[in-house]
Amino acid sequence: MLDISKRIELINSLLEQDTEQSLTYAALESRLTLEYLCYERFRLYFSYLSESDLKNWQPKHIIKQISGEVDDNVAREFSISISDERIDGRLPETKEEFESIKYTPLGNQPELNLNKLHKLWNSVSNVALHIPVPSISSDSINIYGDKDKIREKVSEVVVFLSNIKGNLLVSGSFGKEYSFNCFVCDTKIKRPVSSLQQKTALSCINPKCQESYVIQKDKHDNFEVIRNVIKFTCLGCNEELEVPIRAFKDLRFNQILNIRCGNCSTLSEVIMRPLMKSTEAENSHNKALQRTSR
Ligand SMILES: [Zn+2]
Ligand SMILES: [Zn+2]
Repeated sequence: MLDISKRIELINSLLEQDTEQSLTYAALESRLTLEYLCYERFRLYFSYLSESDLKNWQPKHIIKQISGEVDDNVAREFSISISDERIDGRLPETKEEFESIKYTPLGNQPELNLNKLHKLWNSVSNVALHIPVPSISSDSINIYGDKDKIREKVSEVVVFLSNIKGNLLVSGSFGKEYSFNCFVCDTKIKRPVSSLQQKTALSCINPKCQESYVIQKDKHDNFEVIRNVIKFTCLGCNEELEVPIRAFKDLRFNQILNIRCGNCSTLSEVIMRPLMKSTEAENSHNKALQRTSR
């Protein structure tokens, strides 16, 4: 966990130097500190969320995504206490029994006010870390921003950081989890059951693996895991070839993906091209099918 007091000390010493350079540097250190606070929490959730499933790299959005998809405790304040006390030699079972035993406090996780953090993260950058694009009406181009504005924003970051009080970060979810092993690389993939009530698409957490899955409930309320693939027919032996859908994610127009058949070793090429499809033709085809089945 980041030693915030050391970061504040560093930023304050740069504020005290009070030069254009030191204030710009203070703004940069402030921004990096805010990023670190988000990323150190993200790191604790690596086993739940694949990097390739991140919808937005900005620190606030990463934490928001964890909060929405894995566990909403990630940015919350709470304290943790433990106990090994027993009731008549057995573990407590009911809420009342849990409340009746003695606990030893372990510590607390500080809240991370994401909206405030995001605002500060942007504002230190706006006042110090970009040169405004010159226009016809601007006289000259300045390397540094306005000293007073930078000092004001950096000081706001220092206040924000000073209010973060806690001594531990918790990872994982408190509730029941569902897990399975990646069909290809065998890495364990897990999610809280509460986050899987709707059909969910997720990628394998192994950065070297291209597999992704859809998890949904079947008729008996059990989870079924479906590998996310596109199927092709081998041109050599007609065997079905399955290619992970993520293999196509970064392909550009006309780019070629080579697939070698595991059965007959024939090399097939898949070319990324637009495909035209007539919904009308499909509808009349379906109607024709219905007609013939009658
Ligand atoms: Zn995998
Ligand atoms: Zn083949």
